[in-house]
Amino acid sequence: MKIVRIPLSDDYLKQLQVLVEPKENLRQHGFATKPLTDEELLLKRRCLGCGKSLSQLKGRQRPNVAPATEAPAVKDAGAYSAPAPAATPQVPKSAKPAPAPQFKCKFHPGEVSYKYWTCCNQHCTADPCSGAHFHDPQDEPLSDLSERYQLHCTPIVIGRHGPQDVRAAVALDCEMGTAENGDSELIKITAIDYFTGEILLDNIVEPDVQLRHLNTRYSGVTWAHMRAAQRNRTALKGTEGARSALWKFVDDQTVVIGHGVSSDLRALKWIHEQVVDSMVIETKIKKQKEDKEKQAKMELDAKAKAEGNYVEPEKVIEVAVPGQKKKRKGGDLSLKGLADTRLGRKIQLGDGKTGHDSLEDAVAARDLVHWHIVNAGTE
Ligand SMILES: [Zn+2]
Ligand SMILES: [Zn+2]
Repeated sequence: MKIVRIPLSDDYLKQLQVLVEPKENLRQHGFATKPLTDEELLLKRRCLGCGKSLSQLKGRQRPNVAPATEAPAVKDAGAYSAPAPAATPQVPKSAKPAPAPQFKCKFHPGEVSYKYWTCCNQHCTADPCSGAHFHDPQDEPLSDLSERYQLHCTPIVIGRHGPQDVRAAVALDCEMGTAENGDSELIKITAIDYFTGEILLDNIVEPDVQLRHLNTRYSGVTWAHMRAAQRNRTALKGTEGARSALWKFVDDQTVVIGHGVSSDLRALKWIHEQVVDSMVIETKIKKQKEDKEKQAKMELDAKAKAEGNYVEPEKVIEVAVPGQKKKRKGGDLSLKGLADTRLGRKIQLGDGKTGHDSLEDAVAARDLVHWHIVNAGTE
């Protein structure tokens, strides 16, 4: 892959700074800005039954977790006696079978063996066959949760004792696998110097926990890659190893560039405030375009109405075709689509099985940001 050098200048850095996401918008774009509180860490615990995390379950309407007391108090019990219900007529035996009990926590109590559940002999993708009336969160100490999930700010280095090789801007792309418990888990990190194009890191990350799969279709990482990296000792040790490898080139002032880079930062459990996200840039442009079009349409309609020749537009009724995904309106914000339209570059050309190449993706995100600097104001 050819990586074209971008000359570093004060002027260019100023233009790059213009694209840096303002601090107050970071949260809105999915970036973490603060370490997790104890309460947030506790929400990372998962139910031993269904495997969902408490934060996933939190949004539901009904209380999900078993009450602390053995039996929930009956509201107003005994305050007054309600009239005895009239005797309900006996349901004939031939009536519908009783509905299956409604479980809050649904799961298969068995295991998957040769793609089938041992509990119900259904295929491994089948809906849960059983469940429990309450979720049962695992009992994990806060210290373990913190070690596993806590987010870390870029170290602020004062004076000359910091890393010697800090870069002004770095383009980043990470790949993730899926842990046994369903967590997304860092498995590869790629970082290049934004200006020189030098490849700073392009390493497999040996995960901190047991993995269910490597998402090879998307990540492009196979078990053979993983084993080879372990053998050659090029694998970084977990998210901490990946962060410290990256922090040799990055301090709190380094601009980090990526496409949807909040997910890369999340995978690294990293809080960094100097970011340029090509997806955020493109989303804003798209929204501005749409607003402009809407405004123009409204003005046109108003004019037509004033002149008395306004025609009510025909209502378009969309018919959903089963099995066919609804086309998303208003252009493609994927890195693949944008690399094609902006840069005329075809990326992610795998057959859908080989996945992405994080180096190719990091370079594309960087070149996309460069495109926006060179073509500032044309969009
Ligand atoms: Zn089952
Ligand atoms: Zn559950």
